[in-house]
Amino acid sequence: MQKFDIAVIGGGAAGITAAISACRKGKKVIICEKMPRLGKKILISGSGRCNISNLDLNEAHYNPESRELVKSVFSRFGREEIEDFFSELGLKLCSEGNRVFPVTDQAASVLKVLEDELKNLKVAVEFGFEVSGITGSAKGFIVKSKTGKSVSCDDIIITGGGKAYPSLGSDGSCYALAGSFGHKIIEPVPSAVSLLVKDRFCHLLQGQKIQCSAKAIIDGKEKNQTESELVFTKYGLSGTAILDISEDVSIAINRLAKKGVQVSIDMVPFMDVDELTEEIRHRIQKGFNPENLVIGILPNKFSLIFRDLFRNASIEKIVKMLKGKRFDIIGTRGWNEAEFTSGGIDTEEVKELTLESQFKKGVYFAGEILNVNGERGGYNLAWAWASGFVAGLTG
Ligand SMILES: Cc1cc2nc3c(=O)[nH]c(=O)nc-3n(C[C@H](O)[C@H](O)[C@H](O)COP(=O)(O)OP(=O)(O)OC[C@H]3O[C@@H](n4cnc5c(N)ncnc54)[C@H](O)[C@@H]3O)c2cc1C
Repeated sequence: MQKFDIAVIGGGAAGITAAISACRKGKKVIICEKMPRLGKKILISGSGRCNISNLDLNEAHYNPESRELVKSVFSRFGREEIEDFFSELGLKLCSEGNRVFPVTDQAASVLKVLEDELKNLKVAVEFGFEVSGITGSAKGFIVKSKTGKSVSCDDIIITGGGKAYPSLGSDGSCYALAGSFGHKIIEPVPSAVSLLVKDRFCHLLQGQKIQCSAKAIIDGKEKNQTESELVFTKYGLSGTAILDISEDVSIAINRLAKKGVQVSIDMVPFMDVDELTEEIRHRIQKGFNPENLVIGILPNKFSLIFRDLFRNASIEKIVKMLKGKRFDIIGTRGWNEAEFTSGGIDTEEVKELTLESQFKKGVYFAGEILNVNGERGGYNLAWAWASGFVAGLTG
């Protein structure tokens, strides 16, 4: 049986940086990866452009339960360290607003420089090695695969990801490995995901895109608001505005089994209530038909909907619908379409600064497997690079 100082379980963003930092410290490292290649999720991230980080990188952009842990990790490997790390590998970066991308606009460039560094450092990589169990040995651990292969190691870094996009490798199988060391798993739910709605609106407007302001309403309370693109689809609501607010909705429906979860959409965010009221009043006075009341304000297709809805409606009601149409949410599009996982290993059970398990010496966690969920905009990959690198330093 081959013997290593460190076995990294899962070769995604976090696993790769963990292996690089451990190897740079002189450790003999193996990555055990179930898929036939590394970093499949990196390749599709940011629609193939890979939004690798954010200029405003700090713990405030992550779920409240994780912030202490995130802060401790970024104090060792934060925004500048991430940028320096990639720039030393030869990857030039640029920014769009606060979002950081490779100048090539290609996720493939990101993966290539990482794979080249793994080769330079002679990190061993075993593909098709789906880890199914870890047992203690006299001086460390034995890592076993589903097909009966095994390697031995002193320390383990578990970076098997969450459950989002299982076709790319992360299907939640590593939660059981963490559970075998006594860790609690906060129920994972799909996040950054499109939402299911039963409403004639979506059916009639499918394919239509608008800029909107969207917010989730849970237990009658308004959650975070975002202004971005909304896409109506035959099954409900999608687009970046919906992905941005979907975490609270998914937790409410999938984890807490709440009823009456809604999303409120302001379809005319560029006009306030008074301006819009005045505009509609003016149009009615000029003799506009109901279907023409929003021509030039919203795309023409909206006439289909408003022809019936605005007939005999008061101006107040029309404005209310345009500025705060409520949709009842009946579910999410699920794991196959979620960009990341909300939930995972309880961050209270992992040591700050090192990411070592509170329960088992020599076991470390990094990346999406932990209950750390960043906003969209490069925060999840930034967490994966940083937490992987830090776990590798100490593992
Ligand atoms: C469509 C999409 C677009 C995204 N775009 C962005 C973006 O632009 N910016 C951003 O910040 N974030 C983005 N994300 C989120 C980001 O990609 C992830 O949060 C990040 O890649 C997680 O890295 P990870 O290494 O923790 O997990 P993963 O990348 O999921 O890697 C886990 C690895 O472990 C392997 N594995 C799993 N189980 C086992 C096992 N039992 N044995 C062996 N190997 C195993 C898997 O095959 C996989 O290679 C996007 C996600 C998706 C799905």
